[in-house]
Amino acid sequence: MTDTPITGGCACGAIRYASTAEPTFSLICQCRQCQRATGAGHAAALVLPADAVTVTGEVRFFDQQADSGNTVSRGFCPTCGSPMLNRNSGYPQSLYVHAATLDDPGGFRPETVVFRSAAQPWDHVDPDLT
Ligand SMILES: [Zn+2]
Ligand SMILES: [Zn+2]
Repeated sequence: MTDTPITGGCACGAIRYASTAEPTFSLICQCRQCQRATGAGHAAALVLPADAVTVTGEVRFFDQQADSGNTVSRGFCPTCGSPMLNRNSGYPQSLYVHAATLDDPGGFRPETVVFRSAAQPWDHVDPDLT
């Protein structure tokens, strides 16, 4: 637990979230679904315990079948379209938060890179991360 909650929100401010717990994990995902969802080369996300997160505002979810067979629900702001919070049916206790939605994204430290095989040639991430 942390004294200072982790907070963030979407571009228009309609959705805000706060977590009383520290992230349990952090990652970069270069899969094609994350490329399309973010419009960039990869998603950068931290994992928070879902029961420690309070969300205000209406998050709309788009459900997608992942290669693992799990359902990934991609949460975004219906007003400004910002990708925000994802859920994965295989990990119902976790909430995946896009790192750049944090009020203070500078402290984000990805621990791993997944789906590097799907990376675009122009998308360079830290080669030391595995
Ligand atoms: Zn918004
Ligand atoms: Zn992905």
